[in-house]
Amino acid sequence: MSEREHLSVDVVVVGAGLAGLATALKLARAGRSVRVVEAEAAPGGRVRTDWYEGRPVDRGFQVAFSAYPALRRFVRDIGIPGDDMRPFAGGAAFFDGDGWSQLSPSKKSLMGFSVLGVADRLRFAKLAAEVRFAPSKMLLGRDEAAPTTEEFLRRRGFTDAAIEGVFRPLFGVIFLDRTLGADPGYFLFLFSMLVRGSAVLPSDGLGMVPDWAAGAVRQAGGHFEFGSRVASVVREGNGVVDGVRLEDGRSIDAKVVVLAVDAPSARRLLSPIDPETAGRIPTGGTSVTTARFALDHSLYEGRLILLNADPENTGGPRIDLVCQTSNVTRRGAPNGPHIVLATSVGDSDAAAAGIEAAVERQVHRWYPEFPWAKVATSLGVIRHPFAQFRPLSGVRRSLPGSGTRLANVVLAGEYTVHPSLEGALESGAAAAGLVDRQLG
Ligand SMILES: Cc1cc2nc3c(=O)[nH]c(=O)nc-3n(C[C@H](O)[C@H](O)[C@H](O)COP(=O)(O)OP(=O)(O)OC[C@H]3O[C@@H](n4cnc5c(N)ncnc54)[C@H](O)[C@@H]3O)c2cc1C
Repeated sequence: MSEREHLSVDVVVVGAGLAGLATALKLARAGRSVRVVEAEAAPGGRVRTDWYEGRPVDRGFQVAFSAYPALRRFVRDIGIPGDDMRPFAGGAAFFDGDGWSQLSPSKKSLMGFSVLGVADRLRFAKLAAEVRFAPSKMLLGRDEAAPTTEEFLRRRGFTDAAIEGVFRPLFGVIFLDRTLGADPGYFLFLFSMLVRGSAVLPSDGLGMVPDWAAGAVRQAGGHFEFGSRVASVVREGNGVVDGVRLEDGRSIDAKVVVLAVDAPSARRLLSPIDPETAGRIPTGGTSVTTARFALDHSLYEGRLILLNADPENTGGPRIDLVCQTSNVTRRGAPNGPHIVLATSVGDSDAAAAGIEAAVERQVHRWYPEFPWAKVATSLGVIRHPFAQFRPLSGVRRSLPGSGTRLANVVLAGEYTVHPSLEGALESGAAAAGLVDRQLG
C-alpha cells in the first residue's frame, strides 16, 4: 500500500500471532475483507521457527498438546496432515541428582515411575482419573479453596518429594513459573491435557502452524502487511473507531478493529480509547530464556524431553529443560545436525549471558562422556521477557474477554482466555464470532 492509497476494509486485525491468524481465517472464509497488520517480518508472534541445515529450530522451546481441542480443529482447518503432528511418545525423563526416571503417556508408565512413592502414585492416579473425562470448561472454572497450584497439591496430600521431584520440574516449564503460583483450575485443565494425550511438535517445528495458517488466510482472500506497526487506533466519532494509524503515518479504515497483539501492546493501544477494559488486561508475565544448538552427534535417543529435578544447580542460570527436538521434527539430510533447545525459566541479562555455559555444565553432569564442546554449535539465545501472562489466583476471572466498551473494537489473544497456544486459538474463534455479529 503506498502512502497515497486509501485502504478501507471490513476488518483490520492487528497482530499475526495464532490469535490474529485464527480470527482472520474465520472472517476471510466468511467472505469479509480482512487485512492483517503485523509488526514483524513474518507470521507467528511467539510461535516462530528458524531453519538450520534443513532442520527446524524453534524460537523458544514450546509444545502443543494433542488433546488441546481448539488446536486440533485449527490444525485440521489449515490442512496440516495428522501425521505431521508428532508426539513425544517417550514423555519426559526426570533427573533427580542421581539418575533418570521416565514418565510416558502410556497408562502403565506411572507404575514404574520411581520418583513417586506408592502413596503419591495413588494420589496421582486418582487425580488423573478425576480429570480424564471432565470437560475443559468445568476444570478451568473449578473454584478451589487453594490459591495456588502448589497449595492445591499439598492439600491433596502430595508429599514434598512429589512436588519437588515431579510437579515443580514439570509444571515449572509449562507455567514458565517455578513457584507453581498458577490457579488450580488452570493446573487441572493442563493436567487433563497431559492425561488425555501427549505433547506434540509439528514436523516443521511449531512455526508450521502459523505458516500454514497464513497460507490459508491468503487462500481465503485475506491480505497481510508485514513489518508495519500499528501506532494507534483512530477514533474520531463517539463510541466507534475509524481504523488504525501505522507508525509510518499511513491509515487503514476498517468497520471493525481486532487487537490480536500481546498483553502489554494491547494495554498500550486500548488505554487511550477504552481505559476501563485496558485496565483488565493482565500486566504480570512470566519470562523464559532459551539457548539453541546444533550438534554433530546425537545427545540422546528417543522422543522425549529431559527435565531437571536436581536439587543442585551446576552454576549460573538454572537449566530447567533440555530437548533434542530433531528426534521428533523433520529429520532433513541423513547426516544433518541434531537440534537441541535448552530452557531456563526466568529472564535477566545475566541469564542470557550465562545460559550457554550453564547448558554445557548441565549436560556434563548428565552425560559426563559427551564431548559437548567439540560437537555443539550455538544457534543463539532467545529471550522472552513476556512469554505469557501469569494466571495467579483471580486473574483469569477478571480477564476482559473479546468485547470492549467500544462498538467496533474487539480483543483476541491469550490474554483474553488463558496463557497458551490453545488460549490464543480459542480467543481467535471467539473474536471472529463477535466481529461477525457486529458486521451483521
Ligand atoms: C518460550 C515460550 C514457550 C511457551 N511454551 C508454551 C507451551 O509449551 N504450550 C503452550 O500452549 N503455550 C506456550 N507458550 C505460550 C504461547 O506461545 C502463547 O500463549 C501464544 O503463542 C500467544 O499467541 P497470541 O496470538 O495471543 O500472541 P502473539 O504470538 O504474541 O502475537 C501477537 C502479535 O502481535 C504483533 N504486534 C504487537 N504489537 C503490534 C503492533 N502495534 N502492530 C502490529 N503488530 C503488533 C506481535 O509482533 C505478534 O506477532 C510459550 C510462549 C513462549 C514465549
